[in-house]
Amino acid sequence: MTYISTRGEALPLTFEDVLLMGLARDGGLYVPAVWPTLSRETIQSFAGKPFAEVAASVMAPFVGESIDKATLLAMAEDAYGHFGHPAVTPLVQIDRNRWVLELFHGPTLAFKDVAMQLLARLMDHALQRRDRRATIVGATSGDTGGAAIEAFRSSKRVDVAILFPDGRVSDVQRRMMTTPTEANVHAVAIKGTFDDCQALVKAMFNDHAFRDRLSLSGVNSINWARIVAQVTYYFVAAAALGAPHRAMTFSVPTGNFGDILAGWVAKKMGLPIERLVIASNENDILPRAHASGVYEMRGVVETSSPSMDIQISSNFERYLFEASGRDPAFIRGAMGALSQGGRFELAATAAKFGSEFHAASASEAQVADAIRRTKAASGYLMDPHTACGLVALESAGPQSQTPGIVLSTAHPAKFPDAMERITGERPGLPPRLSTLLTDRERFPVLDNDLDAVKRFVEGAVRSASAGAS
Ligand SMILES: *Cc1c(COP(=O)(O)O)cnc(C)c1O
Repeated sequence: MTYISTRGEALPLTFEDVLLMGLARDGGLYVPAVWPTLSRETIQSFAGKPFAEVAASVMAPFVGESIDKATLLAMAEDAYGHFGHPAVTPLVQIDRNRWVLELFHGPTLAFKDVAMQLLARLMDHALQRRDRRATIVGATSGDTGGAAIEAFRSSKRVDVAILFPDGRVSDVQRRMMTTPTEANVHAVAIKGTFDDCQALVKAMFNDHAFRDRLSLSGVNSINWARIVAQVTYYFVAAAALGAPHRAMTFSVPTGNFGDILAGWVAKKMGLPIERLVIASNENDILPRAHASGVYEMRGVVETSSPSMDIQISSNFERYLFEASGRDPAFIRGAMGALSQGGRFELAATAAKFGSEFHAASASEAQVADAIRRTKAASGYLMDPHTACGLVALESAGPQSQTPGIVLSTAHPAKFPDAMERITGERPGLPPRLSTLLTDRERFPVLDNDLDAVKRFVEGAVRSASAGAS
C-alpha cells in the first residue's frame, strides 16, 4: 500500500514512512492510495473473534508489505493483552436498541489508548528495522499525553517528552503522565497555557537541526496509524450485533475528527453503516459546517467534555479530500483560506458531507440531563463525552430496528469534578488504578521558554539512550 498527500505535492510513501513521519512535507495529511475492502464473509467471521485477531485482519491491507501478518497479530496481542476487560472494547446495552461501546478499558481510561498502545509497538518495530531511535515531543491538554506516555513506557527505541500546561489538567490526568518511572518518558509542566505548549512543540519541529539531531516524531491524531487502529472496534461492535446482515448507526464524540473518520473508513471498507453521527459539545464547528456549508473558526469555550474543546478538527482535511473526489487543489485552497481568514466554503463537498453524516452539538444542560436520565433509567453511568454522543444519537431520530451505538470515549472516573457537579457523586477509579493517587510524581516545571525546554528534552533523551545502549 502506498500513501498520498491530501495536498498533492509530496512524494508517495509506504505505511512505515507515514507511521514515522506524521505530517506530509507539503503540509497535507497522508491517505491510502486506494481503499481496501473486506468481504461479507470476512466481516461475519469477526463475530466472537478475539479483538487482536480482528485488528490484524482490518489493518493488514493498510500495512501492506511493511509488516507480515503474524508479526502484526503478535503486536496486537501484546498491545491489547493488558486492557482491563477481556473483550477490550465491550458493548453495554442501555435501552431497547441502544448500546454503549466502551473504549476506555486501557491504562489511561480514554479511547486514545486503543490506538496508542498499538502505535508504540508499530513504531518500535519500524525503528528496529532501520536501526534508529526517535523522540516524540507533544503537547497535551489532557488525554493524549497520558496515553502516549503509557504506550511508550516500555519502548526500547523511543523517548517521549510531553508538555502540559501547569495547573490546567486534572489530577488524574497529570498523575497518569507523571507517575511512570521509566527513564525514556517525561512529562513537563510548562508555566503557560495549552496553546503555549503547542507553540513550543511547533518551534522545536521548526528548528531543523534540533529536529534532525533528536529524530523528532509526532503522535498527534493526524498520524495515520492511529486512525487505522481505531477502525477495528467499528467492525468488532457491528459484527457482534449482526453485521453484515444488519446495518448499524454509530454516534461518535468528536474533536479532531479522528475517531469518526475511522468509522467512515470502516464503511468505505464494506461495513454496513446506516448513519455516522458527529457528536460535538458546545464547540460546534462541525455541526455548523454541516448545516451551513461554511467551515468557520470561533473561540473555544470550556465544557465538561474538555477533550472535545477544539477550535478546528484537523482530520477533517482527510474527509474533505475524499468528498472533493480527491482534488488536492481544492484542499490547498480551503486550508489556505482557513489559515488566512479563519473560514472556507465547503462548496461542492457540502452535499456529500450532508448526506454521509448527521451532525449535532450537545449543550451543557443536555449533557447533564443525558447523564442523569440514563443513570435513572438503566443504572448506567456515562461520562460527559459519551453523553454528547447519546444526545447527538437521539437527535438523529427515534430508536429504530437499526442498533444505535454510542462510542464511549472516556471512563467517568477520569472527570470526577464534572461528574460530581452533575450527579452529586464522585465516581471511583477502577481497582487496577488504585495506587494512582498516591504514587510518587516526577516532573519538572519549566518556564514558557523555548531554550530551557529544548535543553531539558535533549538532556533527558541523551541520558535515556545512554542507559538503553
Ligand atoms: C480525543 C478524545 C475525543 C475526540 O476524538 P477525536 O478523534 O479527536 O475526534 C473524544 N473523547 C475523548 C475522551 C477524547 O480523549
